[in-house]
Amino acid sequence: DMEPEHSDALTMFRAGLEADPDGDAIRYFDGVITRRELDTASDALASGLLARGFAEGDRLAVYLQNVPQFVTCMLAAWKAGGVMVSINPMSRTRELSYLLKDSGATVLVCLETLYDEVARDVVPETDVKLVLTTSELEHQTRNDERLFAGLERQRHEGTTDLAGLIDEHRGQVPPAVTLAPDDVAFLTYTSGTTGVPKGAMNTHRNVVFTAAIYRDCARFAPGGSVFGIAPLFHITGLIGHIAVSFAAPMPLVLAYRFEPGVVLDALLEHRPTYTIGAITAFNALFNAPDFTLDHFASFTSIYSGGAAISPTAEKAFRQATGHQVHNAYGLTETTSPMTLTPFGAPSPVDPTSGALSVGVPVPSTIVRIQDDQGVDLPLGEVGEIVADGPQVVAGYWGKPEETAANLPGGALRSGDVGFMNPDGWVFIVDRKKDMINASGYKVWPREVEDVLAEHPAVRESAVVGVPDEKRGETVKAFVSLKAGTSVTTEELIAHCKERMAAYKYPRQVVIIDELPKTVTGKILRRELRD
Ligand code: ATP
Repeated sequence: DMEPEHSDALTMFRAGLEADPDGDAIRYFDGVITRRELDTASDALASGLLARGFAEGDRLAVYLQNVPQFVTCMLAAWKAGGVMVSINPMSRTRELSYLLKDSGATVLVCLETLYDEVARDVVPETDVKLVLTTSELEHQTRNDERLFAGLERQRHEGTTDLAGLIDEHRGQVPPAVTLAPDDVAFLTYTSGTTGVPKGAMNTHRNVVFTAAIYRDCARFAPGGSVFGIAPLFHITGLIGHIAVSFAAPMPLVLAYRFEPGVVLDALLEHRPTYTIGAITAFNALFNAPDFTLDHFASFTSIYSGGAAISPTAEKAFRQATGHQVHNAYGLTETTSPMTLTPFGAPSPVDPTSGALSVGVPVPSTIVRIQDDQGVDLPLGEVGEIVADGPQVVAGYWGKPEETAANLPGGALRSGDVGFMNPDGWVFIVDRKKDMINASGYKVWPREVEDVLAEHPAVRESAVVGVPDEKRGETVKAFVSLKAGTSVTTEELIAHCKERMAAYKYPRQVVIIDELPKTVTGKILRRELRD
């Protein structure tokens, strides 16, 4: 078992600050923010929030891409005794409005270019009393054309500029707050790939624990840095990028958003040693025209989480980069890691299902496989993956029924179906809701996708069940191809037919340019099904 090092994530940040006050906290293009600067800016912002009526337990919503201000706002929310609400920056007006109403946020931080729309269409329906505006151009002077073409600063009359509020209160230190391990650090919303978004309450204990898990498992080298390949708003970014940078401590390199060419340049410029992102994001880098081995030469450990890795993708990763990609499995509700591939240990492939293992349970964590009634199944049997440990969230904000259903007795029912082998390796079969019922046979999309991945022309694929008069449901595959390759749908069907039982292989294949994905790189099977 692992003993908690700090009572809360703010104390964890301060330990890193004390260890290395002049060290870089964040690097953003040509801009650098030291730990001390981050500390004083968040002190000033917390003071400014308190002066504007923000009180203990209040929620501050951050609606931003991967910019340094994200981290300043998070620390300031804690220093003011509050909770950060993490909002997907791709959310549209309707979604933003839902998330603000659901969380009851009173402060919203957003880009100044979005202010007019947000102030007119969203804020009036919510409890938001203060909108702080900022810019993606702040903290850097390079103004990369690929991201910021034509963008200029826009100051709005009568609004509060985030940097302005910080300047106004510079030098002030907010009154000391005591954060308890069970206090909520942030609300992270499930993306709603299954049902309405629910605000998972990630506590300070959850955050301190998981940051230490990633730090210890990945064996950070001194002088290293973490590259933010995942979006910061998502649990992977919040823990695998921000919290880990506090725990190490080490600099966090940010590049606004995932744009392969920009990311590749940033890798050469900043030479990071660690990252965690979705396998689909790594794939996009390998397929970018300028990609070379040198782009990944500085890394000492790389993790992939959030989406399944096929054995073929794992091999392709090694061939493209010379590195092993370690699997990280978790959910928003497990504050990211539940199982990990131990550093340097290759994940085994299950001979029957062909799945690559997602690793072994992380310390202090019990992973069970249960049937629908919540009864433990014998080792090796397939059932729902249930997790219990210091990373499991306290529940969903304002949703006692959903909490009771998904977190009975404090353990999380993941909605993923899988099994554990006799050596303790965990394998995911698929998401429970994505199972296809073809003539009464269970078909798991992931298995078909893994077989498609073995075809040399296939870049990515997504398999779904579509209604069928004869079979009830039939298996349909959407496939994107690697650059410079060509293949017919008949050839792809034949490839699968040769390699799997007759009820499993896809009867329909559609080739498309790009599969629809969430910003976290998860392929949206539901969208394809609809
Ligand atoms: P929602 O719960 O609303 O569908 P979401 O899918 O975005 O939202 P997340 O918490 O981001 O929720 O994703 C968790 C899911 O991602 C897991 O339940 C699992 O299906 C999948 N997943 C995460 N890591 C891995 C991994 N390493 N391998 C395979 N699947 C993974």
